[in-house]
Amino acid sequence: MADVTKFLSGIEAFQQQHFGENPELANTLVNGQTPQALLIGCCDSRVDPALLMDCDLGDLFILRNIANLVPPYLKNDDYHGVSSSLEYAVCYLEVSDIIVLGHSGCGGIAALMGSAKGEEAGEFIGKWVNIAAKARDKVLQEMPNETPENQARACEKEAILVSLRNLMTFPWVKERVAKGQLSLHGWYYNMGTGQLRHYNQLTGEFEILVKHYAPNQPQAQEDL
Ligand SMILES: [Zn+2]
Repeated sequence: MADVTKFLSGIEAFQQQHFGENPELANTLVNGQTPQALLIGCCDSRVDPALLMDCDLGDLFILRNIANLVPPYLKNDDYHGVSSSLEYAVCYLEVSDIIVLGHSGCGGIAALMGSAKGEEAGEFIGKWVNIAAKARDKVLQEMPNETPENQARACEKEAILVSLRNLMTFPWVKERVAKGQLSLHGWYYNMGTGQLRHYNQLTGEFEILVKHYAPNQPQAQEDL
């Protein structure tokens, strides 16, 4: 069994850092949460949203799954983990923002791209990432001669748009967006550069929100 000492000492360090210097924080947190945003991110261990954004406890309500996907609104007897998290954030916590955070080098999107070549991904993964099948098909149709890497980077972004569109199929999301009570954001994080882009609905492009973290060094491989 792997040693989990690092995680335990991490909890102690975290407690000391956050509660040791601010004993009142625990009382504040116990009384409830009022996060500003629901963040829908990937499970990938390299893109922890709260760490990436240097957030405090209570800032973000976070939902993570393979390839940061949102399925369309569907009421049936299946178990709906994403939809229930979304419902709680929107209808009960009344967040003002939903951020879909995609990222470069996404294994889930790689599985989705592989499915076009007949590659199967696990018992559940292939079916799950197929939520974004339209993103894969669009990329393959529009850029058939690009390298697989560039196609995957493009699909990672297109899949974010699929999730944004699927969010709008939830009636209580659509209603709040129409009333100006809720804003949807599509973000794309390039882990190689630290660069963050957002989808601009007016231009139809992913535009730079935050530049890469080493401004004095040559730019690492740029995403498309
Ligand atoms: Zn991922």
